[in-house]
Amino acid sequence: QAKQQGRNHWQFYTQQRQSMSASDIILRSQLQQAIDNESLKLFYQPIIDFTSGKIVSVEALMRWSLEDSTAISPVEFIPLAEATGQIIPAGAWALKQACTDMKKLHAAGIQRVAVNLSALQFHRANFFEQIEQVLNETQTPPDHLELELTESILMENTNNAISVLQRLRERGIRVAIDDFGTGFSGLSYLKTLPVTKLKIDRAFIKELEHSSSDQAITQGIINMAQQVGLEVIAEGVETTDQITLLKKFGCGYGQGFYFARPMPLADLLIFLQNSDLI
Ligand code: C2E
Ligand code: MG
Ligand code: MG
Ligand code: MG
Repeated sequence: QAKQQGRNHWQFYTQQRQSMSASDIILRSQLQQAIDNESLKLFYQPIIDFTSGKIVSVEALMRWSLEDSTAISPVEFIPLAEATGQIIPAGAWALKQACTDMKKLHAAGIQRVAVNLSALQFHRANFFEQIEQVLNETQTPPDHLELELTESILMENTNNAISVLQRLRERGIRVAIDDFGTGFSGLSYLKTLPVTKLKIDRAFIKELEHSSSDQAITQGIINMAQQVGLEVIAEGVETTDQITLLKKFGCGYGQGFYFARPMPLADLLIFLQNSDLI
């Protein structure tokens, strides 16, 4: 069934996208195999509350390796899966897997799991019903789930986006804006959206300690987010200097290699037992 869906989308998108390279076509059929035999994986990366120093939530990140164990980066295969429509079955799998794993995560003290969504998933007619169904099937309380959307998803078809966001909020499912600062939405627009969190893109954090303009931008985003009542997560935190600055600016949460890399569920559960972070 998933295969069927993938094929239909593929036909649709080949008409749209003129140039799919030969290697993309091979990759696409390998990805279809991975979807069909459920060999995709989810890794989890901790998100740290700067106030308590504790891990409060985790982000689910998809992982894919070929049969010879070559890992393909999501930066490569997610855009491909979006272009072919394969993100629909792959994303549905990730959502359900994350909710399933959340039982163990919650028992280990994690409040919620954040799942990334693509535009194609979010703008589907039955998107909200699909979320409901997954929550029911996996017996997941809605406040154990957070959805990460990019600014561009919300900019496309804004009316639909706002009504879906409102339904999610009424249901108690949190929504975070991912990669914030890389789009063009601006904060005044955000004020009108029913979202709860911003994730400042790693592009602004990477050189934070060396760049006064990145400091100004980051501080500005944090200040304005606070004024409109949004929580802020800094992505890609790698150094103690970055943490010091982020705390000084009033940033609530951080995520990055400094704390932990994305890892399989089993590793994370061990990590949580042993971790006595910052
Ligand atoms: P994202 O949602 O912004 O995820 C954060 C990315 O930053 C992850 O890359 C993570 O491994 C990486 N990262 C976290 N901390 C650090 C750090 O300190 N330094 C550096 N250099 N990188 C850090 P990853 O796992 O390669 O994923 C890339 C992107 O692929 C994600 O960006 C997201 O847009 C997309 N993606 C991943 N999984 C899914 C999924 O299940 N569904 C959808 N639709 N997209 C996904
Ligand atoms: Mg994300
Ligand atoms: Mg991000
Ligand atoms: Mg990103």
